[in-house]
Amino acid sequence: MTAPQQNHSSPIDPAKLDRLAEVAIRVGLRLQAGQDLLITAPVTALPLVRRIAVHAYSAGAGLVTPFFSDEALTLARYRHAADHGFDRAAGWLYEGMAKAFTANTARLAIVGDDPMLLAGQDPAKVARANKAVSVAYQPALEKIAGFDINWNIVAYPGASWARRVFADDAEEVAVRKLADAIFAASRVDGDDPVAAWADHNAALHRRAAWLNGQRFAALHFTGPGTDLRVGLADGHEWQGGAATAKNGVTCNANIPTEEVFTTPHAARVEGHVSSTKPLSHQGTLIDDIRVRFEAGRIVEAKASRGEEVLNKVLDTDEGARRLGEVALVPHSSPISKSGILYFNTLFDENASCHIALGQCYAKCFVDGARLSPEEIAARGGNRSLIHIDWMIGSGTVDIDGVHADGSRTPVFRKGEWA
Ligand code: ZN
Ligand code: ZN
Repeated sequence: MTAPQQNHSSPIDPAKLDRLAEVAIRVGLRLQAGQDLLITAPVTALPLVRRIAVHAYSAGAGLVTPFFSDEALTLARYRHAADHGFDRAAGWLYEGMAKAFTANTARLAIVGDDPMLLAGQDPAKVARANKAVSVAYQPALEKIAGFDINWNIVAYPGASWARRVFADDAEEVAVRKLADAIFAASRVDGDDPVAAWADHNAALHRRAAWLNGQRFAALHFTGPGTDLRVGLADGHEWQGGAATAKNGVTCNANIPTEEVFTTPHAARVEGHVSSTKPLSHQGTLIDDIRVRFEAGRIVEAKASRGEEVLNKVLDTDEGARRLGEVALVPHSSPISKSGILYFNTLFDENASCHIALGQCYAKCFVDGARLSPEEIAARGGNRSLIHIDWMIGSGTVDIDGVHADGSRTPVFRKGEWA
């Protein structure tokens, strides 16, 4: 008699991995019976994708279709492809994705690759390839940013990512540490993660409701290297935790999430701001960002590392120099307290107040689901091919809410809710 081999030495707890898959389907997507599911994932995340497919089909999924990426394949392009190829992107694939979303297919993205995979490559080629993808991806991004369908991002502890985060550890130790950190941040380390998420969503909804009651005209951030007034869009709405997509499904688009966030006014941001954590953007690390805004537009941008890539990003289009999101996260958030720098936006943005360059979210407007892109723009919502979050919060940042009459209400003091 033979029994299936169990790999007891895997550094990734299989029970918790299965719970993460369950949370992605039942909380992150709240996948509906009969709904199709499109998954993008690095090949390293195959064990998670398989568990997700089991939970998706058990929840009544129609068809689960995965698309995989691979670090070695990505690097092969940079090392061997002809120069003219770096302006190409698989437009047909993104058009197909947009078509799938129009047909109510849910979207699950798994992150897990080395965040600095392209650090050693020619920044000009990286920028051209990124721009080509941004342009080609636009029809699909519109449906994601417009929240047409339920979508979700979760993380898998890939070995090369783990080695970046825990550089001093052996690979197996690094993977175990990153896996445990992902499971804790994703709230799947307890017995009833679905109930834990219900409690967490209720807490985030209370924060968003308080901010919506205040109807601030602007937020004023002050701290070392930062004196920034972020005007908020007309008719903005604060969001946090689970939200309802236009297809009627209430889902948690990001797992983990600790933020409450809304839409800044694209023309009403003034002053200067410094980043408080490095930003990993599509394989390049950009550190010590310092920018100055005038009338909503970045007029000066510096970085101690990756400045060339940063400036290429800002030149993507007119909206790339303006803000599409402002988000509040207390310095004591569990992800911040872990003290880990993940080099991954899904995690690092949930450890710190942040702003995002580029495209705004339609759901961050009152009745946003009913607004046309023109109506969103008229209220101050920004439009761009990009949406890039970067971290500006720390234990030393204060934030005032500024009312239309100029009166002020403390919102954050020393990185915590006032
Ligand atoms: Zn955010
Ligand atoms: Zn964002």
